Amino acid sequence: MSDYDFELERVAREARGRGARALLIQAPDGLKQHLAEFYGRLEAMGFSPIISADPCYGGCDLAEGEARSVGADMIVHIGHHRFSEGEGREGGVPTMYVPAAHIADLRGLAAKAAGIMAGKGFRAVGLVANTQHLPYIGEFAKALEAAGVRSVVDGRTGGLVLGCRTAAATAIEGEVDALLFIGGGDFHALGVANAVEKEVYAADPYRGEVKDMAPLKKRELAKRWWAIMEAMRAKTFGVVVVAKSGQLDAGGARSLKARLEGKGRRVFMIAAREASWERLSGFAFADAIVVTGCPRVAPDNQASFPKPVLNMQECEELLKRL
Ligand code: SF4
Repeated sequence: MSDYDFELERVAREARGRGARALLIQAPDGLKQHLAEFYGRLEAMGFSPIISADPCYGGCDLAEGEARSVGADMIVHIGHHRFSEGEGREGGVPTMYVPAAHIADLRGLAAKAAGIMAGKGFRAVGLVANTQHLPYIGEFAKALEAAGVRSVVDGRTGGLVLGCRTAAATAIEGEVDALLFIGGGDFHALGVANAVEKEVYAADPYRGEVKDMAPLKKRELAKRWWAIMEAMRAKTFGVVVVAKSGQLDAGGARSLKARLEGKGRRVFMIAAREASWERLSGFAFADAIVVTGCPRVAPDNQASFPKPVLNMQECEELLKRL
């Protein structure tokens, strides 16, 4: 059995309701290895599934072009929530989102995290989670209350954070002493830590650990300022327009181009689906790269680039200093 809830019955019901038989399944790389049983069951139910091998980092990246190419009637987008209200617009490929909740017993981790929060003297702690662990917010709230710590969850978002959307944390920051993120890895927790002034801790369900994000935040901030300062010396820039449905911002990219040119820089516009060094190493004439779209690509990919890579916000900081 998979450790994730792919909601087979709901998928089958919605696909039948839409008269869809050929289903393009999109999932983040980390979940692809869990798809075999889901795939087999869909086939046994008379569907014709096909799994996209391309990377998929968020609901911002719907494989509509791929779905049309392979003749899929519907996209089953696993591991994320709906990203943009524009989805499902006239002419778009019908898409259903399957958050793929992690199936685990997190009572021990919740009690451990609550004990640490109480031990630090926090009286109120804000709870946020990624898509897979959103259903566990109640479990952590219960554990915090049992430890004598008040829990706060943003009502509008239910506590959900994405790599680029941290309103669930910023909306409640004023009411709490610290924030506790539930989810694996550093990506989302660091996004939360970068967005708030309060202390942020991450309860990792895969490692069973509770981690203070302060050292990582400090390191990342130093690296980002290094990239901005290095980019000040660049004479030629590549501005990347990311060709993904929810990330496309050609207007924003053109505006950055014009403003960099206004500061005497030469700018090349580049279109890419993946803003990785593997894809961009050919542009040796660019001294620095600006990636529009997902704001997390630049900081996440910097280590593999031998030149500065900035996101749009960082490029704004650069422009103020040129
Ligand atoms: S962080 Fe980037 S990949 Fe994730 S949802 Fe936001 S834009 Fe998409």
